[in-house]
Amino acid sequence: MSSALDLRDALDQGGRSFSFELFPPKTEEGERTLWRTVREIEALRPTFVSVTYGAGGSTQERTVRITGELARDTTLTPVAHLTCVGASVDELREVIGAYMAEDVRTILALRGDPPSGLGTAWAPHPGGLEHAIDLVKLIRSLGTMSIGVAAFPEGHPESPSLEHDARILARKQQAGADFAITQLFFRVDDYVRLVDMAVAEGCTMPIIPGIMPVTDIKQIQRFADLSGAVFPKALAERFHQVADDPEAVIELGVEVAADMCQRLLDAGAPGLHFYTLNRSRSTIEVYEALGLGAADGRLGAGTG
Ligand SMILES: Cc1cc2nc3c(=O)[nH]c(=O)nc-3n(C[C@H](O)[C@H](O)[C@H](O)COP(=O)(O)OP(=O)(O)OC[C@H]3O[C@@H](n4cnc5c(N)ncnc54)[C@H](O)[C@@H]3O)c2cc1C
Repeated sequence: MSSALDLRDALDQGGRSFSFELFPPKTEEGERTLWRTVREIEALRPTFVSVTYGAGGSTQERTVRITGELARDTTLTPVAHLTCVGASVDELREVIGAYMAEDVRTILALRGDPPSGLGTAWAPHPGGLEHAIDLVKLIRSLGTMSIGVAAFPEGHPESPSLEHDARILARKQQAGADFAITQLFFRVDDYVRLVDMAVAEGCTMPIIPGIMPVTDIKQIQRFADLSGAVFPKALAERFHQVADDPEAVIELGVEVAADMCQRLLDAGAPGLHFYTLNRSRSTIEVYEALGLGAADGRLGAGTG
């Protein structure tokens, strides 16, 4: 698959999407790990890989560079994240232009978290954008990009209600979004409820569930806290029973994630998005447990 328009068209045709999220590393060692992971993921021929966008200038430049390298030097379709944090509209235009120049044709349009930290009030840049919807509109106005947005099965932490979130999601689509990816979550019912509520608001775009297999109990609890996701008690107890054995934790993480992924697909999810933290082992094992080979005819497979 060579362009974002292909991605939008393919999603429109109702194919299932399988994708992986990476982040731009800060060190050379991290960069080597990233590219090892990229090559392993490439063999699975996913629909796309996405690269997160940080708050600092240097990490933002790395996202542009890495997505460009993915577009140029691999068979993968890169999706570049972009946030409104600390940027004027002119600066956002420049980054979108840089992505386009690198032949990155799909952007995940996000607001970002408050620069002064989670739990503090969001204040946009004086010359910037207030909401992700505004960024969707800006990208849409600049060319034929494909646009993804964020969705929240347990509600966005600042949101007054799940209904409000569902309405916002439908409005993101009206503004030009083609698909959504969810925040990590651990209860299938939360995802199904979000999709039902979004559909009731008129949302028809694919809402792809975001999955993070547990590889480390403390780390997953930290991520759950940061994202506002509930790590269910019964699940936590299962992991605590094997907490002394890191290998057993990873194996249980794969088993739990594979079971959740299968239930999501059975419930009609249009695909799966794996949060990899730049490590491929668990996600590849989940992939294999689900019987998702490289050339099973799903969306993106074989279009290189
Ligand atoms: C898949 C995924 C990837 C992510 N990647 C990154 C990343 O790379 N870098 C990063 O910094 N962060 C990332 N995030 C985190 C994200 O930036 C935060 O969760 C942020 O707090 C919300 O972003 P948003 O795009 O949903 O914002 P918005 O859609 O703007 O929503 C933020 C809040 O405002 C409300 N809202 C939105 N529009 C309106 C409106 N018009 N009127 C009234 N209320 C409104 C929403 O209900 C919500 O409560 C990611 C999140 C997800 C789910």
